Amino acid sequence: MTDYQAPLKQMKFTLEHLADFAEVSALADFASVDADTIEAVLEEAAKFASGVLAPTNVIGDRQGVRVVGDGVEVPAEFTDAYARFCEGGWPGIASNPEFGGQGLPKTLAVACDEMWAASNVAFALCPELSQGAILAMDRHGADDIKAMFLEKMVSGQWAGSMCLTEAQAGSDLSSLTSRAEPKGDRYLITGQKIFITWGDHPMAENIVHLVLARLPDAPPGTKGISLFVVPKYKVNDDGSLGPRNDNFCVSVEHKMGIHASPTCVLSFGDKGGAEGFLVGKPNEGLAAMFTMMNYMRLGVGVQGVGLSDRSYQAAVAYSRERVQGRAPGEKGRVAIIRHPDVRRMLLTMRALTQASRAICYYTASCLDRAAHGTDPESVAFHQARADLLTPIAKAWTTEASLEATSNGIQVHGGMGYVEETGAAQYYRDARIAPIYEGTNAIQAIDLVGRKLVRDGGATVSAFVSDMREVDAPLANAGDEFAVVRSALARSLDELVQCSTYILTNEKRDPELTGSAAFNYLMLLGTIIGGWQLARGALVAHQQLGAGGDKAFLETQVVMARFYAEQVLPRCTGYAAAIQSGSRSTMALAADAF
Ligand SMILES: Cc1cc2nc3c(=O)[nH]c(=O)nc-3n(C[C@H](O)[C@H](O)[C@H](O)COP(=O)(O)OP(=O)(O)OC[C@H]3O[C@@H](n4cnc5c(N)ncnc54)[C@H](O)[C@@H]3O)c2cc1C
Repeated sequence: MTDYQAPLKQMKFTLEHLADFAEVSALADFASVDADTIEAVLEEAAKFASGVLAPTNVIGDRQGVRVVGDGVEVPAEFTDAYARFCEGGWPGIASNPEFGGQGLPKTLAVACDEMWAASNVAFALCPELSQGAILAMDRHGADDIKAMFLEKMVSGQWAGSMCLTEAQAGSDLSSLTSRAEPKGDRYLITGQKIFITWGDHPMAENIVHLVLARLPDAPPGTKGISLFVVPKYKVNDDGSLGPRNDNFCVSVEHKMGIHASPTCVLSFGDKGGAEGFLVGKPNEGLAAMFTMMNYMRLGVGVQGVGLSDRSYQAAVAYSRERVQGRAPGEKGRVAIIRHPDVRRMLLTMRALTQASRAICYYTASCLDRAAHGTDPESVAFHQARADLLTPIAKAWTTEASLEATSNGIQVHGGMGYVEETGAAQYYRDARIAPIYEGTNAIQAIDLVGRKLVRDGGATVSAFVSDMREVDAPLANAGDEFAVVRSALARSLDELVQCSTYILTNEKRDPELTGSAAFNYLMLLGTIIGGWQLARGALVAHQQLGAGGDKAFLETQVVMARFYAEQVLPRCTGYAAAIQSGSRSTMALAADAF
């Protein structure tokens, strides 16, 4: 049984103080969401995650999945857990009430998503993908398509998948070749998609694939891609399941991690064409698919948070039990948590986890305020901020999860490298996150190209001004906060210098964006994390004065200081690398490598 009480307290604190939850619940659409609802949802989610999902995690890792006949077999425990997940109403907690969803804020749903990922990330991918598909269909689909699919998807009776990738079209979707031929009011889809997560499984009665393909007269490149909904089983007019559609799983991949998440090669149209329906306008499918992709990008970031946290909890427990060596001022041998270097690893894991969580929850909160706000200025502001944050929530957080889960293994020493302790599984499961949903390089290029350069740095500048607002309260909070204040101010200056450097030089040096992007994303993510921990420490400082939970609140202050002293200095390195430009990166000819 996994104990969620420690992370739950931190999650609630993050929601309330770092994700501005009061502003979200003040929106008319969320009028019924009060403190009791939040408490009840999070406590029940924690029970479900620890009682039902966590016990299936190692089973899924050891057993994996396989193709049997014309379908994929998953561990029986997964099918049972999925049925209970649906019975509990978890698939639709943040979905549109028009289709049976509970309409709760995304900001609250991400906290649940974190728990699903922490307890069993391979399982969590299935409902996560379904939610992304629902959102894209709800936003871009015609009414008859919504009526045909959405209610059953929101309840979890039917699941969803996302079919973009083809062997020759990974990061570069412009080269995809799957085709869609019109046939009456439908389309016949042919082509092969690879790496499709939960592309086939027996947990849901039907699987609703969102598929990118080209119409016969489509222009080449990304402007000729359309989006189709292609179910595994055709749907009769009365909504019941019809015959099997012409799409089948050909094989599943053998992977480093997430063993129980089927990664399928799906073949469409081997028997003449899989029947599907157009979603949105012809040739504008990529834009519609971006609704799902952006949803999933935040979701992947949240997977990173969940795995970092589990890895941290396991490492702390081990470091309290494992006795090795001696320490100054202690009699006899000590538990390894006493050693400064083990503390360095544990605190780095914790600091990165807290920062990642705050970034993801805050991104969700901006999305809620953009989607449900009524004041146009506030809507535009929060949409721009969510757009800026999404690549950071995906990429910074998943890079952080690799560092955290790798440290999780290191804290266990040799026992971390053998599978018995589970530390290795967290790392193996985390390793995919920087790759799928657009690699972290693609996120970084999006951040610099579309979010920084396109508006001349305006959105980043506005965020820098907001982050500088903690300076005065930090100055007033006393000596303990001096290092947080100076480190944050220094890092923000470095960010401004780097933004200016890129904006000034990107036209002169066409390789600059690509060379600097990853370091710029790491720089900005590291600073946003530090800003969030500083905000948390200020809240804790105030609450300590009013007699709050001393140990928890003092920890918030220590974590902000640790982050300022041990993590924020990384910004100086990122800044130096960015401002060195592209020269050495591009100096070697390809055959000199
Ligand atoms: C387990 C798993 C599950 C997946 N699930 C799904 C799914 O459900 N649906 C789906 O459609 N796809 C899925 N994918 C596919 C995934 O999204 C792609 O693997 C990913 O987008 C990268 O594409 P690629 O593998 O072709 O790598 P490539 O595009 O070949 O990239 C290789 C390397 O080159 C870099 N690179 C490529 N182009 C550029 C560029 N322009 N600038 C800088 N660097 C570049 C990349 O960052 C990477 O480091 C999944 C993949 C895996 C492994």
